[in-house]
Amino acid sequence: MASSDGAVDSASRGIRHNSPMEIHTRSEAIVVDNISKIYTTPNGPLKVLDDINFRAEQSESIAIVGVSGSGKSTLLSLLAGLDLPTSGTISIHGESLTAASEDKRAWLRNRYIGFVFQQFHLLPNLTALENVALPLELRADAQAGAHARTVLAQVGLGSRLQHYPRQLSGGEQQRVALARAYCPHPRILFADEPTGNLDAKTATKVAELLFELNDEYATTLVLVTHDEGLAARCHRRVQLLDGRLWTD
Ligand code: ADP
Ligand code: MG
Repeated sequence: MASSDGAVDSASRGIRHNSPMEIHTRSEAIVVDNISKIYTTPNGPLKVLDDINFRAEQSESIAIVGVSGSGKSTLLSLLAGLDLPTSGTISIHGESLTAASEDKRAWLRNRYIGFVFQQFHLLPNLTALENVALPLELRADAQAGAHARTVLAQVGLGSRLQHYPRQLSGGEQQRVALARAYCPHPRILFADEPTGNLDAKTATKVAELLFELNDEYATTLVLVTHDEGLAARCHRRVQLLDGRLWTD
């Protein structure tokens, strides 16, 4: 289906400035058209994202890079339906996040999305096992505990099930956060600097895990990272600069 001049290949990479709507035939996990984000601040409006277009196909892995303050976390939270853009549209697996009611957006997040926060956001009064099982319990999954144990074992924490977050190292907390995001097998996993707080050895371990899980479940992976090594392992890399998104 690809033409010899690579036009389809370049379209499937999907990110271009001010690109017109393209016709896509492959399964698209994320479709973003012309989004901008303007924060209201005491010093006036602050435009953080400026007319961004973005496509991600199912099972792709994509690294978003950019200097601190370039809007990476803002973009990730919009793609994950945690916040709304000032203008533009976002859909995941054919369902609009931007046109959805708050309830519908929560439902879409629950159905399709896992999110690994940079600061983990584990619940301090729950054990590792309880933290990971919680999203499944909220879905009334009778196997919540068993699934949580399996995924915690996968991330190498089978012997830390009853530990509370404060009893775990930063790397271990990051792996619990990853296990929690992955346990419901989300179609799309977002991770904000998943190796940012980790020593080199643990960072490598967490990266291995991300890509293993990505392979195993054909999950679409969208990572924000400063780690060029991690970015290089993704299928592609995009850069935020001056509010705009650039493909290398
Ligand atoms: P990054 O993740 O690339 O470091 P962020 O997306 O966190 O960048 O932030 C981008 C810019 O937007 C920063 O200048 C930050 O100060 C600003 N910003 C982020 N969140 C808010 C907010 N809720 N209100 C006002 N400004 C914000
Ligand atoms: Mg950030």
